[in-house]
Amino acid sequence: MGGQEHVCNSGEQCRAFDPVAKHAYPTTDPLCRACLEHAQPAIRGLVFDYLDLAQLHEPSMSQAIAERASGSKERPIPISQHVEALQAEIIHVATTWEYELRVACHLSDPHNSAPIADWHTTLTKPVPLAKVRPGAAVQRAIGVIAPRLDRLAALPATAVCPAGIEDQPVDMCGWQAVQQLTDLHGRARAMLGRTTRRFWIPGECWACQAHPVRGVDGPLYRSEPRFEGDPMQVNCDKCSAYRAYPDYETYMATLLWPELEVAA
Ligand SMILES: [Zn+2]
Ligand SMILES: [Zn+2]
Repeated sequence: MGGQEHVCNSGEQCRAFDPVAKHAYPTTDPLCRACLEHAQPAIRGLVFDYLDLAQLHEPSMSQAIAERASGSKERPIPISQHVEALQAEIIHVATTWEYELRVACHLSDPHNSAPIADWHTTLTKPVPLAKVRPGAAVQRAIGVIAPRLDRLAALPATAVCPAGIEDQPVDMCGWQAVQQLTDLHGRARAMLGRTTRRFWIPGECWACQAHPVRGVDGPLYRSEPRFEGDPMQVNCDKCSAYRAYPDYETYMATLLWPELEVAA
């Protein structure tokens, strides 16, 4: 290879990896478009991950856990510590990069920002973001980050505590933050997957046309509603699309998915 063409920093994980030439997608940006588009829903999903993880703290809300806990002296403490640590990491990483983006994009502080004290005048002693409920903080941070992923990916290296305030500061680039946030989503879903029951159901996906394969679960599953009144949904494991369960019943009866109603 002659010219030193820059390729996507995702390397072998690049969503547009060239399997023949064995290199990530050529781009002058830190991450290629395909990688950013893959990261987008994962990072948006962190808002729900956080809320779902919070529910794991309340065993009575999940029958599956409640059944296991009743009649047992053991409290499910280890898992809850893991859950709390992951939640704390999600808040830390999301708000860290929310802050860096606010500085880079000259975004105003949240309107309910804490009063500015005179010692918070430099980048190393930033104005603290207003104290809000942790779930709301994640939502606010993702609301800043998700629409600006290309901007985040382009941020130059800056010293941050990677996963928590106890960490030694290290230099991280914005594109690494995109990967870190995407990984957090994967870790959250993995943790939730161990405690949330999935019911695989037959059928093929209306969105990505994924087919069932003999001997393999999926692609469609119905998630167990955890609260009375939760919507029943059918989900695709391959493309993460979901829709109302009654549509699935129509599909099973007619073998045709009804037209999706376009949200007004
Ligand atoms: Zn890529
Ligand atoms: Zn699908």
